[in-house]
Amino acid sequence: MLEKLESIKWKILVVYIGLIFGILIFAGFFVQRSLQDYFTETIQENLIKELNLVSGLIEEQLKEDDYEQLNRSINRYGEDLEKRITVMDIRGEVLADSQEDPARMENHLYRPEVQEVLTEGIGKEIRYSSTVDREMKYVAIPIIRDNQTKEILRIAINLEELWYIYIDIWVVLFRAGIIAILISLFLALKLITKITDPIRSITWAAERIANGYLDQNIVVNTNDEVGRLASMFNHMVNKVKEKVEEISNEKNKVEAIVTSIGDGVIAIDNKGKIILFNSAAQKIFGIKEEEVLNKSIIQVTKNHKLDELMNRDLRDNQFIMEEIEILLPQKRIFRVQIAPIKGQQMIVGAVGVLRDVTELRRLEQMRTEFVGNVSHELKTPLTSIKGYVETLLDTKPDYETYDSFLNIVSQETNRLDRLIGDLLELSKIESKSDYFVQEDIDIVTQIANTICLLEDKAAKKGIDIVLDLSYEYYQIKGNKDQISRLLINLVDNAIKYTPEGGQVRVGSYLKDNSLVIEVEDDGIGIPQKDLPRVFERFYRVDKARARKLGGTGLGLSIVKHIVEDHKGKIEVESEVDKGTKFIIELTKV
Ligand code: ADP
Repeated sequence: MLEKLESIKWKILVVYIGLIFGILIFAGFFVQRSLQDYFTETIQENLIKELNLVSGLIEEQLKEDDYEQLNRSINRYGEDLEKRITVMDIRGEVLADSQEDPARMENHLYRPEVQEVLTEGIGKEIRYSSTVDREMKYVAIPIIRDNQTKEILRIAINLEELWYIYIDIWVVLFRAGIIAILISLFLALKLITKITDPIRSITWAAERIANGYLDQNIVVNTNDEVGRLASMFNHMVNKVKEKVEEISNEKNKVEAIVTSIGDGVIAIDNKGKIILFNSAAQKIFGIKEEEVLNKSIIQVTKNHKLDELMNRDLRDNQFIMEEIEILLPQKRIFRVQIAPIKGQQMIVGAVGVLRDVTELRRLEQMRTEFVGNVSHELKTPLTSIKGYVETLLDTKPDYETYDSFLNIVSQETNRLDRLIGDLLELSKIESKSDYFVQEDIDIVTQIANTICLLEDKAAKKGIDIVLDLSYEYYQIKGNKDQISRLLINLVDNAIKYTPEGGQVRVGSYLKDNSLVIEVEDDGIGIPQKDLPRVFERFYRVDKARARKLGGTGLGLSIVKHIVEDHKGKIEVESEVDKGTKFIIELTKV
């Protein structure tokens, strides 16, 4: 109810009703005043007419001083006119009166109306009559004979009668006022509703917009101020809608980027509480975003360094880039870049991007090791060549020594040649240049051709090469040179690491959708602890022996690369002094 009274509608209505009442009372007052004046004037005129009439009628009696007859006439006229009539002489003595006995009436000379007659020729007065004890209207005129005022005739009416007329006027005014109020109330309500309805619609729409429903448009058909307000409101809502859409599109974009980004992104507010933890970051720390929001970095990541860096960024407001190590759930190295989030006036948070550089660091390490290994591998034969050549030059030895030294130099040179050849091969495979041309390879023929190349070497060691090939015709997609290099490396190793009289078996068969190639020997075998490392560059189980056999330590890493380039798999099974078996799986065409 209170709310209703406070609305514009009711406020206008109250003012409106007040105004109507005011105007009515004001108008009533003036109407009553002018009617009163009018009635007083009319009554006065009538009284004067009646006085003139009565004065004519009593003239004879006055002339003859017949006061008894005068009194009777006056009484009768008074009764007929329902008014009080008084006749007095010029000295104020009452000669006749229609309501009182003149003998008992006091002298009336100083009655105001009488004085007025004597001075102005006519007397009009409203005053209290002590004789009849009430408010009366008096009108008095002189009775003139022989050009002289002889008597004064006075007529009086009871003013209460006038009040009845005034009351009647007020009743009429009151009725008219009520009708006017009702009509104007009805019109006012219609008018105010016309104004307030659109305002109500705007308020309602604004409330809905505040609650997030932006699909609000107000229909107002007027062209006045309210209509313009409504159309401005609609315009504003459309603008807000556009802006909100723009912002939410931007937000979605940023969210999509942050979510899909491979780097971990973590943001905190200025109190150090997490406000963003993207899916990459969730993966890094093995936690879900819902579990981390509003918690501190240390609570969530248990990483003091990261916590310290993020909070330092909040404090110092500067760009930070550092490398940190995360131990849980697995040990990895991350490069962290942290930047402050700037608000209008102050820093409102910090955002950190975590890039996993573990692999990069591992590769760098590998490269350094590789360079070291290559230098070492090249230096050994070179030192040996240098030593023997210098000795030959300095000592001028006999033919036998000379010959044996030259043999050694030749061997070391061959080793250098093999080493550099293998290194070039490896770098070619790694660079994946035009070297990798895909073609259909008939694998059985390829194996048979390759084995031919090594038969001599096997025969020299009395090693038997057994081919256990499927008779089916099948092809793989790949690079002929690479497959050939793969087979040579494996069969060559098998011959190298198998004592004289041993056996090397090369087999192939189909398994599901793959083609399996096996190279098996009954040689010295590889100890279990070395098995996982045999594919590493320069890794040799027994360095001295391998070197003696002409190994470079690069053969198996080349094999592994080739298999990976063909999207295949390679495994090794081995037992010391029993033999070794390499199993390769390649996809069949
Ligand atoms: P290398 O040129 O020295 O043979 P590889 O990369 O081909 O280098 O082989 C790495 C090491 O693996 C060898 O030094 C050897 O110790 C071991 N190895 C490879 N093939 C065999 C095999 N068939 N039997 C036993 N040991 C092997």
